Amino acid sequence: MFEDLFKYQEKDVELLKLENELKSSAEYKAYKSNYIQFMESKKQIEKLEADAAGIQAGQKRLDEINANVDKLLASLNEIESVLKNVDEIEDMNELDYYQERMQKILDELATYEKEMKSVDSKIVDINKKYADAVKSYKESAKAGKAATVAYKSVQEKFSARESEYKTELEGLRAELVSKYPTIMAVYDRLRKEKKLPAVVEYNNGFCGGCGMEVSQGTVGKLKASGEFAECQHCYRIMVVK
Ligand SMILES: [Zn+2]
Repeated sequence: MFEDLFKYQEKDVELLKLENELKSSAEYKAYKSNYIQFMESKKQIEKLEADAAGIQAGQKRLDEINANVDKLLASLNEIESVLKNVDEIEDMNELDYYQERMQKILDELATYEKEMKSVDSKIVDINKKYADAVKSYKESAKAGKAATVAYKSVQEKFSARESEYKTELEGLRAELVSKYPTIMAVYDRLRKEKKLPAVVEYNNGFCGGCGMEVSQGTVGKLKASGEFAECQHCYRIMVVK
């Protein structure tokens, strides 16, 4: 009994092996890891593009600072020209006033210089990170293209063999489904989980799949050829040939 079912399963196991072979091929692994890297650098670029708003704000602040510095330099020039004619200043208080004002302007200029440097280095930093991310994005896109071509070529060969197997299985299937509807329903569920073999022989009290001892109730169901029951340990179908 069940020879047709085992024959079907044998072919199906080969098909599953073929699917696993493709997934474990070097071409598939390269294709997958390149894809992951590509998506990561894409994400990085998107994040840095959001930071571009930071560059704009920084640039605006730099412009403001430059305008203020221009004003301060103009004031300094004025004071300088006054101080050039220091002999004409009669009031010592006036001289003090100019000197104090000059010092204040120089202090302000120093503060602006510091801020300018920090804004500037932030802009340089964002620009550099952006350039790096774009470079790695382009590189992974290029490598990904080559990996995709290699993978597609391997995949084509596999899918030719795969459809051969599938056609063969389909030819056997209709008859099995009408002959063993309950077994095939369980089989299809286990196949989806890639748990093959799904149908195993019952071995005198033990499951031929997981090797565990089955319950007395199950033993009672498996007395004669053609009988079957589900293993309560691994959920495979045990059959009596
Ligand atoms: Zn079992």
